[in-house]
Amino acid sequence: MLGLMQDRPLALPHIFHRAEQYFGHKQIVTATATGQTRTSISEWAQRVRRVATALDTLGISADGRVATFCWNTTAHLELYLAAPCTGRVLHTLNIRLFPDQLTYIVNHAEDEIIFVDRSLSRLLWPLTDKMPGVRHYVVIDDYGDCPIPDDPRMLDYERLLAAAEPFAGEFVIEDENTAAAMCYTSGTTGNPKGVVYSHRSTVLHSMISLIADGAALSERDVVMPIVPMFHANAWGLPYGSLLAGSDIVFPGPNMTPHACLALLAEHKVTVTGGVPTIWMGALPLLGDYDLSSLRTIVCGGSAVPKSLSEAYRQAIGIPILHAWGMTETSPIATLCTPRSQHDSMTEDQRANIRARQGQAVPLVELRLVDPASGEEVPWDDTTSGEIQAAGPWIAREYHKGEGGGVQFTEDGWLRTGDVAAMDKYGFVRIVDRTKDLVKSGGEWISSVELENEIMAHPKIAEAAVIAIPHERWMERPLACVVVKPGETLTAEEVIEHLKLRVAKWWLPDAVEFIDEVPKTSVGKFSKKTLREKFAGYTLPSAEA
Ligand code: AMP
Repeated sequence: MLGLMQDRPLALPHIFHRAEQYFGHKQIVTATATGQTRTSISEWAQRVRRVATALDTLGISADGRVATFCWNTTAHLELYLAAPCTGRVLHTLNIRLFPDQLTYIVNHAEDEIIFVDRSLSRLLWPLTDKMPGVRHYVVIDDYGDCPIPDDPRMLDYERLLAAAEPFAGEFVIEDENTAAAMCYTSGTTGNPKGVVYSHRSTVLHSMISLIADGAALSERDVVMPIVPMFHANAWGLPYGSLLAGSDIVFPGPNMTPHACLALLAEHKVTVTGGVPTIWMGALPLLGDYDLSSLRTIVCGGSAVPKSLSEAYRQAIGIPILHAWGMTETSPIATLCTPRSQHDSMTEDQRANIRARQGQAVPLVELRLVDPASGEEVPWDDTTSGEIQAAGPWIAREYHKGEGGGVQFTEDGWLRTGDVAAMDKYGFVRIVDRTKDLVKSGGEWISSVELENEIMAHPKIAEAAVIAIPHERWMERPLACVVVKPGETLTAEEVIEHLKLRVAKWWLPDAVEFIDEVPKTSVGKFSKKTLREKFAGYTLPSAEA
């Protein structure tokens, strides 16, 4: 017997029309190079409708890839809806990729058009010959001064919109499984791989920003996504905000901690999200701004050290809301909102809980699997295994079927490459990336845990731990430490600090002081770069 409910597609036009119909009076603010723009949702919706017509006029294929090379801005949000609501596929390009990766991704995705912020366009112009499939470059004038080549492929965003009639009527996507957007994985090994989100997966994932045991976005919120809109759709915050009817603030090109904090204060932002690097940079400046409106800081992309979350709780009264996921999981897979079972704990015990990645959000399933035996391991908070994930917004394969055998199990689960333990409530504690673990004498040392303990030192700004080959133990940890400005510290002091916190055999064999931990294109610690920097490094213990 079949259910007798209406079979209505879960598709992005619903989010667009809902925002336009109910929340036209709400505001989107974007910080620009010269000031700020303020757009009502009604005005924004009219512009989305114009972009939709312009895509038709330019002859973009019915399911053509529409790429963006943009900061977090109102115009970027116009493209976020205009492309998928017309059946095209939004392809957000990471503005920090190397030229070779960028051209590979554009060609692999078969992008037909790239919308580019003028301030970023300098990076694209030398590459146009290597991207023969791109028929149009539409320059969004964000007050950048980059010259625009004299080339018929170059168009101006505002002129294009002015010439386009707003699309009238309702956008319709009949099949909810139609592709809506795509993002490429950061590709630490091999070529980047394309993750293709559907309308259905995007709508369902957007709902997660609204759940009470999460960011709980509502119409009363002012949301500022600091996480780039090219990083897994800014974790769903833009679509979630439109669905909820929240006001939105975009930081635009100036992503310095001062600029972000000033915006949070000025617009009384209630919910924001960004990677730990952002919050580490902003920490020393918190006292300069009135952040009393802020109620939730969503943070993920890499582990949130307990010391960081606690420093925020002490400075502004709210800890960081820890989330875990990956491009392949849309990306929200877990969120760490303390639950009733944690109420009776001490504040310090709760802080330990908040340093976990949290519980799988509704509709996502997780399991822990021993990589050697392929068997599931128990949720006893001790035994670790690789996290495998399943759910309606988890990838089942990559664009053009690449990497399938390696990353997906025979029964259709995603192999995440993250090693974790879970407590009996399913609260995940990520131990490491499989490839970042330090394998010492057959036992695993978690580089993430070591880093978190090192970063708990009050004089340390950042720390990253990498494995160095060792004759006797196979691998031993090297700690690369960044000292806070104006402070001094010795390797012995770092080790003394750790002795109280980790098992003796976890203590790094050496501590190197560096100016900065190198970051990836999405602001994470780049262990790959550190490993290259310290290739051939000789540990003092190995010399002895
Ligand atoms: P990306 O696809 O660039 O978003 O990277 C996903 C990877 O980032 C995951 O597989 C994890 O290794 C890492 N990651 C994301 N969130 C967290 C977190 N909260 N704690 C630890 N690692 C994380």
